[in-house]
Amino acid sequence: MEDGVINQSSKESVHSLWMNSIEGVRLVDSIGNIVYVNDSFCALVGLSEEELIGKPFCYPYQMSNSNELENFENFSENIKNRKITPYYKTSVTFQNKKASNIEVTNTYIHEKDDKLWLLSVFRLGAEEFNSVDSLDSEKNESKIDSQKSGEDSSKLIKLLEYERKKNKEYENLIKAVIDNTEDVIWMTDNKLRFTFISPSITRLRGYSMEEAMSQTMEQSMSPQAFKLAISIIDKKKNLQTPERNTGVLLESEHPCKDGSFIWAESKVKFLVGENDEILGLLGVSRDISERKKTEKLLRENKNYLSKIINTIGDPLFVKNSEYRCVLANNAFCSMLGAEYSAVVGKYDFELFNPEECKAYNIEDDFVLLTGHESLKEESYVDPQGERHTVLTKKTRYIDENEDKYVVGTIADITELKEVDRLLRQSLETERKLNNMRTDFISMVSHEFRTPLTTILSSMQIVQQYEDLRKEEKEEIYNRVYDSIKKMIVLLEDILILGGTESDKAAFKPLPCDLDILCLDVIKDISLNYNQGNLIKYEIQDNLDQVVADAKLLRQILNNLLSNAVKYSLEGGDIKLKVYAADEFICFDVEDKGIGINVPDQNEIFKPFFRCFDSAGVSGTGLGLAIVKKSVDLHSGSISLKSEPGKGTTFFVKIPHLYEYAKGNK
Ligand code: ADP
Repeated sequence: MEDGVINQSSKESVHSLWMNSIEGVRLVDSIGNIVYVNDSFCALVGLSEEELIGKPFCYPYQMSNSNELENFENFSENIKNRKITPYYKTSVTFQNKKASNIEVTNTYIHEKDDKLWLLSVFRLGAEEFNSVDSLDSEKNESKIDSQKSGEDSSKLIKLLEYERKKNKEYENLIKAVIDNTEDVIWMTDNKLRFTFISPSITRLRGYSMEEAMSQTMEQSMSPQAFKLAISIIDKKKNLQTPERNTGVLLESEHPCKDGSFIWAESKVKFLVGENDEILGLLGVSRDISERKKTEKLLRENKNYLSKIINTIGDPLFVKNSEYRCVLANNAFCSMLGAEYSAVVGKYDFELFNPEECKAYNIEDDFVLLTGHESLKEESYVDPQGERHTVLTKKTRYIDENEDKYVVGTIADITELKEVDRLLRQSLETERKLNNMRTDFISMVSHEFRTPLTTILSSMQIVQQYEDLRKEEKEEIYNRVYDSIKKMIVLLEDILILGGTESDKAAFKPLPCDLDILCLDVIKDISLNYNQGNLIKYEIQDNLDQVVADAKLLRQILNNLLSNAVKYSLEGGDIKLKVYAADEFICFDVEDKGIGINVPDQNEIFKPFFRCFDSAGVSGTGLGLAIVKKSVDLHSGSISLKSEPGKGTTFFVKIPHLYEYAKGNK
């Protein structure tokens, strides 16, 4: 093809080139009559092809000041001399339409028979030629020098061809994008009637483009989705620009041709006119059915999971590495007496006693760091202030972001612990009783046999020797009395320790004269041991009248003083000092006897315990046990200070019992 010459019929070639163009194209013959217009031109001027063909080119214009009309005056002359303005911009009013910012490009076309035609391309609001950088110089030349013919017009045709191709490519690109995108692109007018729906609608909802376009927006959505979408769009519509023009994101359900429903996410923007008026909507919708399905499944799973963890009766929690609770079941919340919202998101120290938290968190760190399971006995105080012992099992969980968590289950073992404690206690009692029984049997066999043997042998002597003298008989009877007395004392001791005598019920504190009681005990001991003169006794003034269980007090003093005498082989002073200190009545019993070594000091209050070195002094090991019991019944205390070879002092403290006495009167 030569420059500027179209070998085929110009009309046909122009038609094939511009048929689908969005630019208006008009072909005019040498005397100015229209020979060809494309659809875009018809649309631009608002007239049909039939109305335009054969008419002078100025026919569609309203008579006003236009470059075109200027050109028309001497059109034949100008075309012949190539004086037609090749390119200009104008705003023009056609008979039926007003068009602003039209760019017009004129090109001469001549055929072999030298017929000269003018091809005019009208582009509405198009960019200027400047955008075609590579062709800038040529384009400017064409603009400036309208005299140049042949060569110039061929360049202009090239330029137009370039533009057309570029537009076509652009159009094709947009078409390809629209045709191939998974998303559905759609537009409506301001009455929400669809003006465009891209072909992908068929993939999405099964309807053809035409079927979808024929539906109203309401028909294209589920009723709830439509209601919601309209309310969101309306709200947005009432906003001021630019907020209004930012668009909205909708998630809605849409019916498909086969009766099913799909979920779509739509980005919707307002199409806005020059004067900011809303012309319609532009939307891009994407199928999110799969995502919705997954979300639903996740929701169901979450519900299912939370139902399961709430069914677990034991408290369960999950906390992160900052000891912050991220999940808890109902049992854990009720353990803390709090709502779920007041538990989850809270740090340990907000839920528990900070001191206890330290212990919990040491264990948490161990689990988080090592991944080892931990089983630990812990304790906490419930909202009612009751302390619970719990067994907490902790394991580590690492999520997909490599974040570490402690998953814990708690078993309340408070009751079990109590049962265990009672069981151990009764086992210990049982064990003690067994020991006592054994000790008792061996003690009885020993301590009862001696007096019984004495009685038996005395009886045999009396029986065998009837003619015994009075003094001899007297001696035998005394031996029998002593033996019987010894056995009675022993039996009493046993009764006190093991029987009902030691019961709290038997504890009867009453006002008593302490001085008389002490003197009485000292007198008894003096008679029994003939050592009364060795016992030094002092009592603080005003302490005569006290409230105490006189019987038990007597046991205490009697046993302590007897021991002091018994275990002071070399003699030496024995002191009984009675005085008041704070709320207590104190009894100090001091001797200068054999003393007790330190290990034995911890044992001597146990029944049947006797020090290895009891210096051959006979005894049952029950005396101090009875003292301890009697002191305990008074809610008092007993301690001792002793040094082997130097002596022993026992310190007994019993509280004043005035109030108790009042209550028992
Ligand atoms: P018993 O005197 O009948 O053996 P006790 O229970 O009174 O039993 O005393 C337990 C043991 O404590 C005694 O066997 C003795 O070894 C030691 N003991 C008690 N009091 C004294 C004391 N004042 N001095 C030295 N040892 C003592």
